[in-house]
Amino acid sequence: MTVQDVIGACGPVFAVFCDVTRVAWDQYAAALEGVNPADLDDALSEIRRTHGFRNAPLPADVRGKCDAIRRARQQAEAAKPVPVPVVAPTDGRRQSVYVPALGREIALQVLPDDHPVLRRVACQRCRDTGYVEGERRHEMGQVYDTVTRCACWQANPVLAEARARQAERRKGAA
Ligand SMILES: [Zn+2]
Repeated sequence: MTVQDVIGACGPVFAVFCDVTRVAWDQYAAALEGVNPADLDDALSEIRRTHGFRNAPLPADVRGKCDAIRRARQQAEAAKPVPVPVVAPTDGRRQSVYVPALGREIALQVLPDDHPVLRRVACQRCRDTGYVEGERRHEMGQVYDTVTRCACWQANPVLAEARARQAERRKGAA
């Protein structure tokens, strides 16, 4: 954001405190470098609602609020459940198939190959969980099921994407 952008966004809110000098605006612009304008808008409306009238908020305080809002946004995004695909009655096409054993036709709903419920997995062995059942261990009269990492662990693009997402989330929370 340029100094002009910062003045445009913060000016109306800060007007109640004092006349902000050009030098001070430069400080605000430096502190708000790289901030998402939507986060700044939310931070400013929070300041409008909660900040006292005596002093203008410090650049670092505004930046801190923006970062907190960004983190909350990212966490809310990450917590959203992944929508489960469903089959609508109108999806695909109807087809009748004669089944000799039943002596009659049955109606089938045939879905297109790219239908979301027909999700393909990158690894059939672990179905993209990254883990497979290991050997069954017998110890001291007990039987233990074990799991081991699947051979696809490093190469599986689905797992790689999940790791990248997790790293992104951790970076956002730091
Ligand atoms: Zn696998």
